Amino acid sequence: MGKVTGFLEIDRRDRKYAPAADRIRAYKEFVIPLSEEATRDQAARCMNCGIPYCHNGCPVNNQIPDWNDLVYQGDWEEAARNLHSTNNFPEFTGRVCPAPCEASCTLNLNDQPVTIKTIECAIVDRAFAEGWVNAEPAPRLTGKRVAIVGSGPAGLAAAQQLARAGHEVHVFEKNSKPGGLLRYGIPDFKMEKHLIDRRVKQMEAEGVVFHCGVHIGKDKAIADLTAAYDAVVLAGGAEKPRYAKAHSR
Ligand SMILES: Cc1cc2nc3c(=O)[nH]c(=O)nc-3n(C[C@H](O)[C@H](O)[C@H](O)COP(=O)(O)OP(=O)(O)OC[C@H]3O[C@@H](n4cnc5c(N)ncnc54)[C@H](O)[C@@H]3O)c2cc1C
Ligand code: SF4
Repeated sequence: MGKVTGFLEIDRRDRKYAPAADRIRAYKEFVIPLSEEATRDQAARCMNCGIPYCHNGCPVNNQIPDWNDLVYQGDWEEAARNLHSTNNFPEFTGRVCPAPCEASCTLNLNDQPVTIKTIECAIVDRAFAEGWVNAEPAPRLTGKRVAIVGSGPAGLAAAQQLARAGHEVHVFEKNSKPGGLLRYGIPDFKMEKHLIDRRVKQMEAEGVVFHCGVHIGKDKAIADLTAAYDAVVLAGGAEKPRYAKAHSR
């Protein structure tokens, strides 16, 4: 676990925003990361609970207490490996996830949850800066072909996992660039788009082929995909909004 008495000694401290006067000059991210030492202190607050309630909150099953402890111990590379074992894109979730893990954290009993999202983001940003995140092409190919319709986070994660399992993966996206609502919904001040491009490059090096500007059902029939591929993943997202007004009736 982190430091046995960490949660008693160290207050919760989180990333701060750049001053509003600076923020209005650009459309870029404005969150200021914690220093390495402050991040380690925050990781030290994790109690490695017998029943880690943070797990109940995390939709991707991140092994949160494990990487909190690794950060506390200073083993950032192993923390990055552990984090990537459950999460293909922690640099996305470390920026835009609503962090249900923190809402679930035992230390949220008195509104002082571990700064899980900040620690996650620090691990992956450091992993990229240190050159620990590289292409992981499959050691053997299966000879199977998979088509994925849609390149939002769901399509991207499916594509990366399937390519690493050795399948030939083709992603079809109707927009001109991959990313779905990550790119065309979430604004740059929450997440800059070069982060998506960096992952797309990694995935291309792992063998994933992107076909952008192809609307399945209009430019290409779904029957063409089912005929040419062994499997088709439909990851087209919701597309149609549900308005709050209709919902509240
Ligand atoms: C303004 C906005 C802000 C948001 N902010 C946050 C946030 O801060 N945190 C958070 O966690 N979530 C946020 N979300 C929600 C988040 O973006 C979505 O939950 C997520 O992107 C859904 O991923 P997805 O892969 O299922 O679908 P999408 O991201 O919708 O991707 C689906 C992709 O499939 C493509 N597609 C669909 N049909 C076809 C077809 N027939 N042929 C080819 N391509 C097709 C679409 O063009 C799209 O690129 C936000 C959403 C919006 C709109
Ligand atoms: S619930 Fe909070 S304190 Fe407990 S293991 Fe998870 S992050 Fe650590």
